[in-house]
Amino acid sequence: IGKVIENIERCGTKFIRLQFVDIHGTPKNMAVPISKPEDIEDILKDGLLFDGSSVDGFVDINASDLIIKPDPDTFSTLPWRPEEKGVCRFICDIYWPDMTPFEGDPRYILKKALAKIEDKGYEYNVGPEPEFFIIGEDAEGHIVPHDNGIYFDVEPVDQGTDVRRELVLGLEELNFEVEVSHHEVGPGQHEIDFKFDHAMKTADAVITFKQAIKAIVDNLGYMVTFMPKPFFGVNGSGMHVHQSLFKNGKNIFYDPDGQDQLSEEARYFIGGLLKHSKALSAIVAPTVNSYKRLVPGYEAPCYIAYGLKNRSTLVRIPASRGNGTRVEFRCPDPSCNPYLAFAAMLESGMDGLNNKIDPGEATEIDVFGLDAAGLEREGIETLPSSLWEAYHALEQDDVVKSSLGDHVYKQFMDIKKKEWDDYRIQVFPYELEKYLMI
Ligand code: GLN
Ligand code: MG
Ligand code: MG
Ligand code: MG
Repeated sequence: IGKVIENIERCGTKFIRLQFVDIHGTPKNMAVPISKPEDIEDILKDGLLFDGSSVDGFVDINASDLIIKPDPDTFSTLPWRPEEKGVCRFICDIYWPDMTPFEGDPRYILKKALAKIEDKGYEYNVGPEPEFFIIGEDAEGHIVPHDNGIYFDVEPVDQGTDVRRELVLGLEELNFEVEVSHHEVGPGQHEIDFKFDHAMKTADAVITFKQAIKAIVDNLGYMVTFMPKPFFGVNGSGMHVHQSLFKNGKNIFYDPDGQDQLSEEARYFIGGLLKHSKALSAIVAPTVNSYKRLVPGYEAPCYIAYGLKNRSTLVRIPASRGNGTRVEFRCPDPSCNPYLAFAAMLESGMDGLNNKIDPGEATEIDVFGLDAAGLEREGIETLPSSLWEAYHALEQDDVVKSSLGDHVYKQFMDIKKKEWDDYRIQVFPYELEKYLMI
């Protein structure tokens, strides 16, 4: 803590932002102005009381006091804010006033899941691939992609070169190890990947990443969206998640003597992910719009199968081996709450390990090419095709349910049911076009 305080003083910080996320993974914060060094110490040691009743998924108005307490390891400055009288930020944990952890805090849900495996000496590492669109408005006010580039294009077709440059530089200031950035398949679509890390660090990083990108792009006069499927007929934005388990610094998914150089643990982890994937969808693809991305033909999965090089399957094992051995789960999208998503994926994978769930043989055919009969013949099931199906699957799955804990599960279901009911009664332009002349 002493070192953190020193850092804050050295940066000439005037404001400390205390940040957390609500149940959707939306960042929330309050800023505390610093007038004397003791202020910093007080906040770091005791946290701050706040009213949690207006935060989605948190508490009722009749028991609304919560404490927000910074995690000192998450200290960072905010490069997009003014340098003079600057701003620093902590990601915080939420407690009840008696300092017991608040069960509705998504960060706590992940912490709890991680503690369970860390007790057994495992470490869960995660590397996400968030995609997003840079968008603008045309003359009629319609939202359109800001360029016509396609996969890996270069300037001038790729109009995002300078934006991505600023984004990568800004992310590096925030201590991200950016691995690669490129134009994606869709017009206006981009991807920036950062190095895999411990799941908690990565979940924090996903929030920071989205926030930083929005702030930086906004300063450059563009808009950005992480919406899973903003444009019909065009690839959507996913957030594939690469996962591995380490023990004593070694990746236990790797076995030089195993089939495909994969360990039993890797296979069982895949088995767990596949078994729970319907319920997982509700958490990793949590919006009505998520299910417009998970349709055949756009590199987003919709059939429950795993493959090695196969990008048409839900789970893929990239070619890299040794400590880089990993399992890629492809249905998550950037609208998910990364804390809840990683907790639920981990618990599903661990259920695979604990109960030796066999994933069967890898699928090497393009599953998008299969018709209903083909799917049946191959024994391949389908992911939920709507939020409605997904939350019903969640209701039936005790492993995924319990990964959220009672509080978050109940709040999540309430919110998702309302979201579905609200969507269900809308009348869209598509329907007018199709049925108006009936
Ligand atoms: N955009 C695709 C998805 O929705 C992924 C494309 C890719 O990264 N190859 O998952
Ligand atoms: Mg990628
Ligand atoms: Mg991609
Ligand atoms: Mg990928």
